[in-house]
Amino acid sequence: MSGGYARKILNLDLSTEEMKEERPEEKVYRDFLGGVGMGVWHVYNNQMAGVNPLGPENIIGFITGLLNGTNVPFSGRYTVVGKSPLTNTWGDANSGGFFGPELKQAGYDGIFIKGISKKPVYLLINDGKAEIRDADHIWGKDTTETLDIIRSEVGDEKVRVVSIGPSGEKLSLISCIINDRGRAAARSGLGAVMGSKKVKAIAVRGTKRVPIDDPERLKDVIDRMLKSLRRSSHPITKLMMTLLKPIFPWILRRGVTSMPDVGYITESMIKYGTAMGTSSSSEMGDAPCKNWAGVGYRDFPMRTKSYKISDENVIKYNERKYACAACPIGCGAIVKIEKGSYALEQGHKPEFETLASFGSMPLNDNVESIIKCNDICNRYGLDTISAGATIAFAMECYENNILTKEDTDGIDLTWGNTEAIVRVLEKLAEKDGFGELLSDGVKVAAERIGKGAEKYAMHVHGQEIPMHDPRLNPSFATAYVTDPTPARHTRGGAGIFEIGLSSNPFKEVKLPRVKRFQYKGKGDVHATLSKIQITLDSLGMCQFLGYFGSFPIVDAMEAVTGLDFSTEELMRTGDRIQALRQLFNVREGIRPSDFKLPDRIRGIPPLPVGPSAGKTIDLDTMVEDFYKAMDWSLEDGRPSEEKLKNLGLKEM
Ligand code: SF4
Repeated sequence: MSGGYARKILNLDLSTEEMKEERPEEKVYRDFLGGVGMGVWHVYNNQMAGVNPLGPENIIGFITGLLNGTNVPFSGRYTVVGKSPLTNTWGDANSGGFFGPELKQAGYDGIFIKGISKKPVYLLINDGKAEIRDADHIWGKDTTETLDIIRSEVGDEKVRVVSIGPSGEKLSLISCIINDRGRAAARSGLGAVMGSKKVKAIAVRGTKRVPIDDPERLKDVIDRMLKSLRRSSHPITKLMMTLLKPIFPWILRRGVTSMPDVGYITESMIKYGTAMGTSSSSEMGDAPCKNWAGVGYRDFPMRTKSYKISDENVIKYNERKYACAACPIGCGAIVKIEKGSYALEQGHKPEFETLASFGSMPLNDNVESIIKCNDICNRYGLDTISAGATIAFAMECYENNILTKEDTDGIDLTWGNTEAIVRVLEKLAEKDGFGELLSDGVKVAAERIGKGAEKYAMHVHGQEIPMHDPRLNPSFATAYVTDPTPARHTRGGAGIFEIGLSSNPFKEVKLPRVKRFQYKGKGDVHATLSKIQITLDSLGMCQFLGYFGSFPIVDAMEAVTGLDFSTEELMRTGDRIQALRQLFNVREGIRPSDFKLPDRIRGIPPLPVGPSAGKTIDLDTMVEDFYKAMDWSLEDGRPSEEKLKNLGLKEM
């Protein structure tokens, strides 16, 4: 292996301030690639079962993907791993921006931190030299202020920083880790793990080039990848979409989810980013509405409500486009709100998940308030899905008199009350008064409230559920209850197919078409897609890649590393990484039956109207099929002995 990696990871024990470099064998890189793969390999081997996620033994890792820093399109993402304090299971979260490539250029494939520091610190890595620095003066600052202070004291504007905000410092279980002011490693509550260790930030600067085995071949592969990117839609699609526009709501209400063509999706992603889908997603019943109790077209109609937080109505605030490292799409943007209650000098454009969680979930059609909520979450370091879902939960409690103005510090928490949403979010972020009750997500809030509030708490094993409704696309339910990190849409598997998109960029992997309401026989497709998704994360690639066509990923890996790979081997690698994530949970005593989807989201009782009217999904059959396809025991979750042997995990 002559390229692709720094061939070094850094282990830091904060209790002793000891730093050790480790050089994993080539086989480890080959078997686990990087990102979440390397993360689970390290944590599984170096951590005992049963540790307190907020205690010194929990290891938090920041790991680059194999292709980070190589200029391969879409290769700018890194992963944070650790035991989740939100779910007490395996936890990981993935983020874009520029931190991953910079860390590798600074000389490390990953950083693993255990122990607890006596005082707030940040870790600075400057071209292979690591030092622990005092962070007393930054503790309490938001993530944007933290970035600016660190850059100024290091004296280098090119320093890349991951940090927590005040929410992570205060150990909010729905806190996250932010880089580049608005890119979030959001899920699993890993911000609180950083906070528990008193690590405010990690700052990296690297000027070394990532070694490439065959630069000429890589240049050719990159050219081919860029050519494969189908940027423009077919003229007939364009004409069809223009003609059909007036009757879109009517079509969407029938639950039509098939996307027209890959070029159209690419074009729309370049223009709108994920904001392109908010209103159609809500109208067709994909984006949940009114804390999962509503029906999009009835309670948050496209023409009068959801379009206000979608497409043109979001991008009109764009100051400039934003792309993660090496990304030819640039689905992000830097936004500005000139004046009004939510005036904002500079923020990041909200993604679809944020638009839905602060929009259709609490019935809020004020896009400026959502941009503001996104900014609060980015600055305080909060997971937008969890924070928005928690406020929608509180609104339903309020509607049902489980919470009253006495509990909410006088805030009138009625559906769609924009001011109340922003005010409650500020309180949640500060852990102030009523906000403290909500600051650990819906499960803990329901326990604190009592009085039957649990009925309205939509979560799987503690984690709030992402913005894709399984009553329309049932395979999302499989993902929510079978992935070792429960309630994850980025492991959406066949759910992404059911929406009408593809998450498979490998042309050699042929998958049969699956029907949305076909429950039996989807296990293999879901399993294959979950392996592809985890492999892309380990390579440091963006999961949107599959939307845009097929790409010669294996060629890119070979040109970078000098090793031979095959798509077949990559599928086995995905299988191995999934198996080890699963083994982590098995070792923690987690059983498949512990991950439960709330009845409401299974369609019990079914919705009375809308595209998903009358649907109760047969989740048990889909889960059984998936476990069979993975060769994991449905009883205790354990991958079979034979599978572990085949994957080289027997000793685990
Ligand atoms: S498509 Fe968007 S999220 Fe993915 S790498 Fe590009 S800018 Fe980042």
